[in-house]
Amino acid sequence: MLESPANLPASNASDVRRRNRRLMLHELRLRGSLSRAELARATGLTPPAIAGIIQDLLDSGLVREAGRRKSARGQPPIEIEIAREGGYAVGLRVDTRGYDFVVSDLGGEVVASGQGEIQGEEPEELLEFLAALYEGLAEKYGAGRSLGLGLVTPGPFDAIWPGIPTPGAIAALQTRSLVETLTTRIGVDVFLENDATAAALGERLNGVAREVNHFFYVFVGEGVGGGIVMKGEPYRGESGNAGEFGHLIVDPTGPRCYCGNSGCLGQYLSLSSLRQFQATQPDGASEAAQEAWLASAARALSLALVTVENLLDPEMIVLGGAAPRQLLARLFDRVGEMRPSVRLGRQRRLLLSDLGERSASYGASTLPIIAVTSPF
Ligand SMILES: [Zn+2]
Repeated sequence: MLESPANLPASNASDVRRRNRRLMLHELRLRGSLSRAELARATGLTPPAIAGIIQDLLDSGLVREAGRRKSARGQPPIEIEIAREGGYAVGLRVDTRGYDFVVSDLGGEVVASGQGEIQGEEPEELLEFLAALYEGLAEKYGAGRSLGLGLVTPGPFDAIWPGIPTPGAIAALQTRSLVETLTTRIGVDVFLENDATAAALGERLNGVAREVNHFFYVFVGEGVGGGIVMKGEPYRGESGNAGEFGHLIVDPTGPRCYCGNSGCLGQYLSLSSLRQFQATQPDGASEAAQEAWLASAARALSLALVTVENLLDPEMIVLGGAAPRQLLARLFDRVGEMRPSVRLGRQRRLLLSDLGERSASYGASTLPIIAVTSPF
């Protein structure tokens, strides 16, 4: 049941209006196109409220009238649909080894993508680099239609580890202050998120977990992270660091981790752990060396997934990340049959992401879109 503005204090009326706008855009994104009457039924809003919101959305270019549906008798209703070209969002994934970006339209379709190396990790250099990259894209796609910038990077944020930094993490982005400066500088909302959570949201918007309400996303990149989606929403925890899957202990007698514990999953399953392993082998680049690493990584992952399933009872777990597709596919095959858990006997316990290596930057681009189109 939706609250009507009349039942709320005046200060909340605009919040309700914004929420109702998002609710309508959400329905249109899910269903393609709907008439005003169908929108009223789907959202529970009154026809006058619907008419007002649609006019707002038409004026702002976020929806359009798609013509009349064929009808046997009477005047057929005009269909409303999301105007894909009505807005776009930039998603940018950054770590110490480089960046990649995706530009997505309001419907979540990719319209451009690219990659490169970052030019320095100091806060000032990074700020200039991020601002220049965004402004170049905004100039090309129209600053007025920009929904914002989604910026993703390995977590955790504002955490104090005793040892060396998280693999791939850029110190200047592990606190939120640089993002506040960037927001002021480029004049649009900047959504900072850890790469795993962003990739999970991208997967929910347009991947194998499309509209799945309870799932866990395993992000394999320089480190390994996790994204938790519960009741259709990301679960971020108290400080935005929920899902730090890479620090799940799979062998307390294992190698020391930079978090201070020993035998964390990330010590076995991550691109940095693959390179470390290869460096200790006589022929590190060989197929045999990669196979040996995969066997150990798959075993560690399979142990960790039992805990995820028992803890969260997710509809599915998605394996993805910034690691090469072919490596993830081999890892997926290596995990094979899932170990027993509360999900024993269920179908589709583990799925391979189909969003490719840009899953995190794509997920980043969905953050501003979700902010505009999700009622949650
Ligand atoms: Zn650890």
